[in-house]
Parts: sequence; structure tokens; C-alpha cells
Amino acid sequence: MISRIDLRGAALPEGSALRDLLPRADFDVEAALDKVRPICEDVRHRGTAALIDYAQRFDGVTLDRIRVPAEALTRALAELDPAVRAALEESVRRARLVHREQRRTDHTTQVVPGGTVTERWVPVERVGLYVPGGLAVYPSSVVMNVVPAQEAGVEGIAVSSPPQAGFGGLPHPVILAACALLGVDEVYAAGGAQAVAMFAYGTEECRPVNLVTGPGNIYVASAKRLLKGRIGIDAEAGPTEIAILADAGADAAHVASDLISQAEHDTLAAAVLVTDSPELADAVEAELKTQVGATRHRERITAALAGRQSAIVLVDGVDEGLRVTDAYGAEHLEIQTADASAVAARVRNAGAVFVGPYAPVSLGDYCAGSNHVLPTGGCACHSSGLSVQSFLRGIHVVDYTRDALAEVAHHVVTLAEAEDLPAHGAALKARFDWKVPAAK
Ligand code: NAD
Repeated sequence: MISRIDLRGAALPEGSALRDLLPRADFDVEAALDKVRPICEDVRHRGTAALIDYAQRFDGVTLDRIRVPAEALTRALAELDPAVRAALEESVRRARLVHREQRRTDHTTQVVPGGTVTERWVPVERVGLYVPGGLAVYPSSVVMNVVPAQEAGVEGIAVSSPPQAGFGGLPHPVILAACALLGVDEVYAAGGAQAVAMFAYGTEECRPVNLVTGPGNIYVASAKRLLKGRIGIDAEAGPTEIAILADAGADAAHVASDLISQAEHDTLAAAVLVTDSPELADAVEAELKTQVGATRHRERITAALAGRQSAIVLVDGVDEGLRVTDAYGAEHLEIQTADASAVAARVRNAGAVFVGPYAPVSLGDYCAGSNHVLPTGGCACHSSGLSVQSFLRGIHVVDYTRDALAEVAHHVVTLAEAEDLPAHGAALKARFDWKVPAAK
């Protein structure tokens, strides 16, 4: 059901050599570019007509427009199951608690008397938030995208999610209800690469945005990579990943259920256990066999666990385990070892870390307060998950008086000459009767 990789008994290789030994999904964003480029070009030139054609081709629905009518949002919220509404409200409340504290404040540094640099944090004007809706639908991703954008102060928020055949071609009603709950009234029924192109180029119905965020499948990730530059993007968030670093004291049933919980997303989802205990590895494998058979999406889960992206990795100890999880850079990393907090504090690469037996990834998917839009595919080595910061730009405001400029002018002129850019120096000299003020 799940393969094993035995790294015990020899020194672990360094860096990329270690990474190459570890399992990873075959998720070649670059290779999908050829497929996605014509879709994006088509949306660029034909706008709504192209989106309607792709909705028919990829989602099996016939639409006459892409923008979701306001009545559909109001109705979805009115008809929302009260228990789901209460859970969404709690998810929003907790996410706001965490994200509100991420907001950076403007800061002024006095470099010299009369010379200051202020860093102003300004929200992106208009954003497009992608909420997946292929294999599963993700109202939780509405919360995880919208809350940080709102807390950053973004004024223009548009959401897009694939049209659903069973719901008259609208996105799933719980997604619409979540948008309405959060006060988002600009929602589109478009999925995949075409939704990203709609946001980037704009159509008759949708004004272009400055930034696109949100997780999605390979077509979404590939379109984001293709259109980056025209739009800003967040980190690439592809098929979900869980890595669990566990020792002999971990509960095998809990470890197995957490691996299964992420394998449930997608046949490409990765579930990786790193342990120094062969006994735990055996017990988890036995638990997987029992638990998978009893769960609803057993086919998808079985494929994900058997895929080349999932494995049980045996190591000599927790220190070696940490080296392995750092090389892997999981989207979600659970620490189920003795002294889990101390071990967690040593993690270098992960999208989010879940500490100890009572912080399963499912909690983070919905209601921990943390964000669930996280870097996958090893991108955690250089990128962060979605946050308020993702929706802000820092602008340096440089304010110098004549005296403050005079004090440093000779250095500026020297550096300009060293770079063979004398006009740079001249721009200073012009302010001082074409003479460089003497060094003090
Ligand atoms: P999706 O919304 O990303 O993609 C569905 C869309 O893909 C369809 O609407 C269609 O337009 C397009 N599509 C389907 N087949 C196509 C084809 N052959 N050619 C071109 N376009 C095609 O939904 P999904 O497929 O379920 O994927 C969601 C992904 O997001 C999963 O991999 C899940 O693990 C991941 N996810 C990641 C995070 C994270 O933070 N990393 C969070 C939630 C979900």
C-alpha cells in the first residue's frame, strides 16, 4: 500500500542528493505550460466567450455568463446548513485573530539628521482569489484567501471557482455562502487556467486584477507561472502534502489517520512518515490497511498512498529525521515525538508545523487560525504560505534635506563614477552649483 525507503545505517547525503532520495509527486508545472498557453491566449482574445467554451469542455456545464448573480450568493447563505454556517464563522473568527496580528505597521528610520526612509505598507488594489472545485470543493479556501486579503485592507476582492454541473453551473453553494458570509459579492464561475487568465487579462465581465492567489491543480499552477509578471502570484500551492516526523511513542492510529486525511485530497497528494521506529512503521502500515477500507474516498486515498510521492522513510534517530524533513520541505509537517515543541523549534523548512498529538493537519485545514494555502513541492524552502503580507507592498519613501544630501553627495558621485554612470553624479552636482560638496 505504501512504499518504504530505508536510510538507516549510513551517513545521510547532503542537500539535493538527500532530496533526490525522497518521494515527490510527478507534478510538472513546466510541462503543463504548453497546454495552458493556448487557453490563456484564447481568454485574452475572446474573453467571456472563451470562458463559456471551457466551462462546457472541462466542467460539462452550459453557461451564458460567468459572473455569479447577487441573488445566488444571498440564496446560498440563506439556505446554508446552520451547523456549517457556525463552523465557517468560527473558522473566520480564528483566522482573523491570527491574520490581524500579521499586519505590519509603517516605520520611519532616521538615517541622518534631515534624512529619513519610511517604509509604507500599501494593500494591493485588486486581487483575484482562486478557490479549487474539481475533485473536492473548498469553502475553507474562501476563508483562507479572503481573510488575509481583507485584513490587509484590499479594496477589490474577486473570487473564482469552477462551475459545478450539479448546481446549475454555479460554483458549489457552500463556496457561494462562504463568499456571502465574508461580504464578497464579486464571484465568478470559472476554473483552471482559464480562471487565472480571466483575472490576468480581464474580460467583459471581470476587470483585470493585480494579484492572483490560491491553491489549485496543475493547470492553475501552470497558468499562474505563465502569467506571473502581468499579475503577482503567491507561492505555488499544488497537490497537498503531509510529512510526519514520529518516534516510537507516537500513536500509530493517529499517525495513520493523519496520513489518510491528506491523501483524501487527490490521487497526487503526498503522505510521508519519517520515523526511527520500525515498530511504529509496521503498526502504521497495519492501521492504514484497516482505516483506508473504512473511509469514503478509499480509491483516491489508496492511489495517493501507493503513488511515488508517498512513503515511510526509516532513519536512525530524530536528528536524522529532521534532516530528512528539512530536505523534503513539506507543506504540512507534524511532529509526533518526545519533546515535540523543542523538535518543532529546530524545523527549518515547512509550510506549517503541527506540534504534538493534538494538532492534526485537519485542524489547520479548517479551524486552527493558521492559513492553509501553503507552498508545496519543496517550495517551503524559499516561500511562505498565504498571509496578510502576501497582499501588501512595501514602498520606501525617501525624504532628505539639502544638508543631509550634501553630507553624502561625494559618496554618491564616487559610486556613480565607479559604475561609469556619470549622469547619476551630475544629478547631484546640479543641486550644488555643479560642485560636489566637500566631505566633512
Ligand atoms: P481545481 O479547481 O484546481 O481544478 C479544476 C479545474 O481544472 C476545472 O474547472 C477545469 O477547468 C480544469 N481542468 C480539468 N481538467 C483539465 C484538462 N484536462 N485540461 C485543462 N484544464 C482542466 O480543482 P482540483 O483539480 O480538485 O485540484 C485542487 C488541488 O488543490 C488539489 O491538488 C488539492 O490538493 C490542492 N489544494 C492545495 C491546497 C494548498 O494550500 N496547497 C489547499 C487546497 C487544495
